[in-house]
Amino acid sequence: MDKGRTEIAELGEFGLIDRLTKDFPVRNAGTVKAAGDDAAVIDAGDRYMLFSSDLMLEGVDFDLVYFPLKHLGYKAVVRGIGDILAMNGLPEQLTVSIGVSAKLSVEDLDELYAGIRGACEDYRVDLVGGDTTASVNGLVIGISVVGFVAKDMITYRSGAKVNDLVCITGDLGAAYMGLHLLEREKRAFAGNDNPQPQFEGYEYILRRQLKPVAPIDAVHSLHSAGIVPTSMIDITDGLASDVLQICKSSDCGVRLYLERIPIARETHRMAEELKADPVVAALNGGDDHELLFTVPVTRQGEIAKIGGIDIIGHITSPLAGARLVTPDGGEISVTAPGFRDR
Ligand code: ADP
Ligand code: MG
Repeated sequence: MDKGRTEIAELGEFGLIDRLTKDFPVRNAGTVKAAGDDAAVIDAGDRYMLFSSDLMLEGVDFDLVYFPLKHLGYKAVVRGIGDILAMNGLPEQLTVSIGVSAKLSVEDLDELYAGIRGACEDYRVDLVGGDTTASVNGLVIGISVVGFVAKDMITYRSGAKVNDLVCITGDLGAAYMGLHLLEREKRAFAGNDNPQPQFEGYEYILRRQLKPVAPIDAVHSLHSAGIVPTSMIDITDGLASDVLQICKSSDCGVRLYLERIPIARETHRMAEELKADPVVAALNGGDDHELLFTVPVTRQGEIAKIGGIDIIGHITSPLAGARLVTPDGGEISVTAPGFRDR
């Protein structure tokens, strides 16, 4: 019988994951949370073990023309750690699996692992294994990270409540602007006899793209302050997509205030130069590696004391939808690829 053919684009990434993972009933009592959050949650006795995997492909997730291997190794670990932090946990172990193309030398892989080692040092994580194979289509990096969290501190995407404050760590859109700068210089390099990349004054956005920081300090600060967010997600696909994930999982709406979204001066400057909109970079850019979380409104003062965290809006009823309020009081719907307008 003809089962027909559905194009992946019809479902989108999230629809595809939902479809592929839906017929897997949980068979083990230790499986507390399967697919659908930033990391899987497994009962480890007195605490929860968190487990997350990420895959990065050359030509899709990174371009080795301008991405130094050392930075790539570091960034791959940061990305993996972000998913553990998003569950309010701390990372402890990781495995690294690589598919290696023939164009890479042993010294190249030494560089990649120097970056991985640096991130392991910075975030106190142990490399405990992995896998190595040949690849015909460029470099493949798969990272799995294990972390732990006290059971009463676990934070899912699904716990946001009406009136909760929406908070984010750091600033948004810079990594995306860094990527644009690197792409611009790559194009200039291709068509120029005297290629001198123009990176002066752009250090911040380049660092955000090439050597991101996992917001582990913010998680430590929340732990110290005794604040357990009601929901949390790491911002990897852009604020819009990730806040919509919170709305979907928590069955709520959200009201964000555009002028409160933290965007660095350097991001504004690059956007101006490229005639791009810095707000679009923040909303849809991705690669920010910051945390988006919600807390009860009673925690506002404590959040302000921590520093480095901005309150950008609040949670509303699901009927109110996801709204972005502009400085002139206008309202626009928050949309992202893979989500239907609600
Ligand atoms: P993130 O961007 O935080 O890495 P994703 O959007 O990739 O998360 O994935 C969302 C959820 O779906 C996660 O819980 C992840 O483990 C799960 N998932 C993604 N791809 C697959 C897959 N191919 N099979 C099973 N689960 C998947
Ligand atoms: Mg995530």
